[in-house]
Amino acid sequence: MIYDYCVIGGGIVGLATAMALLEKQPGSSLVLLDKESDLAQHQTGHNSGVIHAGIYYVPGSLKAELCRRGAAATKSFCNQHSIPYEVCGKMVVATNSLELARLDTLTERAKVNKIDAERLDATELQRREPNIVGLGALFVKSTGIVDYRLVAGSMGKIVRAQGGEIRCSANVSAICETTDMVTISAGEQRWRTKGLVACAGLQSDRIAKMAGVKLDHQIVPFRGEYYKLPQIRNGIVQHLIYPVPDPAMPFLGIHLTRMIDGSVTVGPNAVLGFAREGYPKFSFNFRDVSTYAMFPGFWKMSGTHLLSGLIETRNSLWKRWYLYECRKYCPSLTIADLLPEKAGIRAQAVTTNGSLVHDFLFARTDRMLHVCNAPSPAATSAIPIGEMIADQWLCGTRQSSVSMH
Ligand SMILES: Cc1cc2nc3c(=O)[nH]c(=O)nc-3n(C[C@H](O)[C@H](O)[C@H](O)COP(=O)(O)OP(=O)(O)OC[C@H]3O[C@@H](n4cnc5c(N)ncnc54)[C@H](O)[C@@H]3O)c2cc1C
Repeated sequence: MIYDYCVIGGGIVGLATAMALLEKQPGSSLVLLDKESDLAQHQTGHNSGVIHAGIYYVPGSLKAELCRRGAAATKSFCNQHSIPYEVCGKMVVATNSLELARLDTLTERAKVNKIDAERLDATELQRREPNIVGLGALFVKSTGIVDYRLVAGSMGKIVRAQGGEIRCSANVSAICETTDMVTISAGEQRWRTKGLVACAGLQSDRIAKMAGVKLDHQIVPFRGEYYKLPQIRNGIVQHLIYPVPDPAMPFLGIHLTRMIDGSVTVGPNAVLGFAREGYPKFSFNFRDVSTYAMFPGFWKMSGTHLLSGLIETRNSLWKRWYLYECRKYCPSLTIADLLPEKAGIRAQAVTTNGSLVHDFLFARTDRMLHVCNAPSPAATSAIPIGEMIADQWLCGTRQSSVSMH
């Protein structure tokens, strides 16, 4: 049998793409492959669970547009499928004059991006969040929280109900594209398809290279390490509390996040990982480390971001320094409040010239589309990303490499 579509990756982007393809072309045949024994075992199942509103992104950019549409689509999907979510709002808190100036830029961006956001002074911030201190804050009302594993699980059910097949424990090991089809192998198993979409997250560059696609970037893993507050401290904040991010970095900084199960996490940081899929601290994978150690872009990036890299490493190694970051805006936290919590690992594309790719990045051939970089807020934006990929595929756009801003 030759499938109309094959999707590699049972994370939220692969599932949303499969769902959109089947919705736009009912009756077509589709198989989704994932190497793990269940869906959402990597980034989709190890994140902060925030439905971002989209204040950070350059106005008019695709990232801003996808996030705005994605937030609405995620909430509506949750309503339709009885998935619990909460619109709890978030405060972006400035703790020094540099951050206050950056907060002005964010306030402007929110306005242009048509996101309802309210500027608060220090007194009003403390009235609304008595345990948080800062020189000022931006309150974004529409930010929400959800468990993306549940969203992915529901998407999986919809794909099956639409006639798609989902094959877990299928670790794709070879891809061969010819003029009329693509053959995908996982050990002894083979699938043939007219069109392949690869959404392989942390392994996306390896999958693309396996398929013969030439890339100008490589995935470098960045751990996002969290702590969890003791249950008794869950009422410490009413909203999500974020620092003002450094615009040079694609990461948002250590935040206090109310989770949908009522707990509160602290994190994530962004520290270089020594394994793409090793979640325990000090996980090490020789192949993963040697892959980036031999990549010139990695060394250029390390040179540019040396200071922030060293600070992140120090904060990761010494809990007191991690606490120091959080106490800038939540001074009542103590070392005893930081309980162990599992980490996530970001798939961060780094180009040969050492830049961290902030945007979605796609590579395309006649019969394949590879999602090469799907950074945060890709969980929020997954539904419109899936629709965009399906539309692009169905209109048959032929570009060898597409970078979307
Ligand atoms: C710490 C952290 C916090 C984040 N917080 C947020 C947030 O609050 N809000 C938000 O919107 N976004 C957040 N993000 C970003 C978001 O989680 C990711 O952008 C999104 O989940 C990416 O989804 P994906 O489907 O591309 O990747 P993944 O979820 O990683 O899925 C990729 C899939 O491909 C499969 N795969 C890989 N190789 C193969 C192979 N050879 N054969 C078969 N299958 C394969 C994997 O098993 C995996 O299931 C966060 C990310 C991290 C890491």
